[in-house]
Amino acid sequence: MSATRKPRRRSQTPDPDKHHPCARCKDHYPTAAHWPEGPVCTYCYQTAKRTEGTCTACGHIGMVPGLDDDHMPLCLRCSGLPLDLTCNRCETETWLAKANTCWRCLLDDIVRDLLSGPDGVVHESLEPLATAIVAMPRANSGVTWIRANPKVRELLGALGDGSVDPTHDALDALPRTRTVEYLRALMVEHSVLPPRDRLLATYEQWLHRKLTTTVDDDSRKIIERFGRWHHLRKLREHAATDPVSTGPFLRAKQSTTVAISFLNWLNERGTALADCSQHDVDAWYASGPSTRQHAERFLYWARSNKLTPQLSIPRHTTGKYELVGEDERLHIIRALLLHDDLPAVHRIAGCLLTLYGQSITRIVALTMDDVRATISAVSVKLADTWVDLPEPISHLLRDHLTNRPNTSTASNAASRWLFPGAMPGEHLNRQTVIDALRHACIPSRAVRNSTWQQLVREAPPQVLADALGISAITAMHHAERAGSDWSRYASTRAGGR
Ligand SMILES: [Zn+2]
Ligand SMILES: [Zn+2]
Ligand SMILES: [Zn+2]
Repeated sequence: MSATRKPRRRSQTPDPDKHHPCARCKDHYPTAAHWPEGPVCTYCYQTAKRTEGTCTACGHIGMVPGLDDDHMPLCLRCSGLPLDLTCNRCETETWLAKANTCWRCLLDDIVRDLLSGPDGVVHESLEPLATAIVAMPRANSGVTWIRANPKVRELLGALGDGSVDPTHDALDALPRTRTVEYLRALMVEHSVLPPRDRLLATYEQWLHRKLTTTVDDDSRKIIERFGRWHHLRKLREHAATDPVSTGPFLRAKQSTTVAISFLNWLNERGTALADCSQHDVDAWYASGPSTRQHAERFLYWARSNKLTPQLSIPRHTTGKYELVGEDERLHIIRALLLHDDLPAVHRIAGCLLTLYGQSITRIVALTMDDVRATISAVSVKLADTWVDLPEPISHLLRDHLTNRPNTSTASNAASRWLFPGAMPGEHLNRQTVIDALRHACIPSRAVRNSTWQQLVREAPPQVLADALGISAITAMHHAERAGSDWSRYASTRAGGR
């Protein structure tokens, strides 16, 4: 068996008047070499030099540029091809990037050249970063990544010559780009930098900039206090156990933005926060868009910190309880299973959502320890229960396990996340999945609600809550909505003991 890399696109037009037919592809391209099998065109020649696999004749595993009479792969020795595929530096037989040098040694050269200081040596503190980049699973992609990205070269060069220190503060001072954040995450992953919560830091920087949009000094001080003492403190508490997720981060931003709008609005009315009356609060809620209700958090905070008089704050009304019909739910399941225009990751997440009512937040945080694949079954651990997946989904997940996306970069090769994300050390982003599903006309929240309505008809809420890891109250809530007689189940259970 041979694993040929993707053949290159053929940009030249074959010309029977000028070129002999190639012994391999039979097309009339310029001949690159005359091998025992005949003339070999430039395309087939390049492909041969990149082909890895197992030699049919001797079982050698490595480069197999040759072909036997049945077009099966042969190693250099068995084919007798006049090629040199051994890197002079690391003495590995592999795909060479240029004469006598393999892609990994070339990547090593490029990275060390960029990261080395004026003395031509990579500083000890940057050594783990150099090693991590050079060790990425596909060295040729690494070379392309650096060659095609001036920003990557610039930053690596600046780290190397010391003009940018390897610290979070120094990186914060640079324009925020994906490159900076990616390299930061890589440095954290490899202990060049201490861990720092990405979204927590993002909120902190955002707050700093946002303070300039307040209309006066007093408002600025109040918002700074609110941001630091309320939101940052909560996000820090969060970050102490788990990475801050998108939900709390976005809510903190929205709540701060609306608090600023509120103070600016109050200012236009010529009122200070300390003099804010019930009439002001009611006017705020009554006279603007529905996003005004997000001033709630700020108003509670201001009231409890005695920055306002004792006001009554209207309760935030949550969105309506959305559902999809049972037919539509079945249609969605069928679409997820049959149509492969969605990436497998989103199809699997969609199936766990639609069949087991799992939240996307929980799904994206599944680890490799939460999945068991044996010859006969694939099971997933949902809360405390192992659930055997039915056939087409188990197949999807089995395929996914052999080829998890985002594991071929320097960052995630050993990721334990079932769905590794694009950022080193992180799992797939929840919002990305929700957006992808929405794009495929699958409304996550409504589907999840409907799934629960279905599930609570089949089993008592408490049992489901234990098995599928939602709170018993949530399960009962779904049951009530579904009109299911959960108390009957509960009493049967209790009576059976
Ligand atoms: Zn050819
Ligand atoms: Zn051989
Ligand atoms: Zn080498």
